[in-house]
Amino acid sequence: MGVKGWLGHKLKTKKTSLELYQATIAGIVDTFLAKNEGDIEKTNADIKDLGERMTATLLMGYAEKMKEHAPSFEKFKDTLSLAYKFYSGNSFTDAVYDPQRKVIRFEDDNCFICRGITLSDDLKDLKYCSVVPGIFTGVMKLRGFPADCNQIECKAAGGQTCAYELVSFE
Ligand SMILES: [Zn+2]
Repeated sequence: MGVKGWLGHKLKTKKTSLELYQATIAGIVDTFLAKNEGDIEKTNADIKDLGERMTATLLMGYAEKMKEHAPSFEKFKDTLSLAYKFYSGNSFTDAVYDPQRKVIRFEDDNCFICRGITLSDDLKDLKYCSVVPGIFTGVMKLRGFPADCNQIECKAAGGQTCAYELVSFE
């Protein structure tokens, strides 16, 4: 079964409230900040790690199938865009593969996690929606691709968009 097959199967899943998810993320980020005594770098790492740990649950039952259908790196532009739309209901504003840098850049001007959230100035370096690049990194690890995804810009922290860059180390 190809990627469309397993996503198609998952379309039968019931949706959970996006507000509930946003509130959950806000509570978790607040907990990380308190635990790290306001250390932004440590908190950013914790948010991304949370995303990586979410991957196993999100892809439960599909990991083995995914391994059988390892596409080329640039195909992850479409695969991850489709998965993002399926889980968030949002489409990326832009997704571009740069073959020179071996980087796929994803942008969402209307990020479902950051929507309606404006962080205070002392939190402007926070990568608030880093669960997304965390999940993408987790997917690449599951697929056995040497790659890493990081947040480049965050709208909640005052950016123009929420941007993530997936870098291939192949
Ligand atoms: Zn965001």
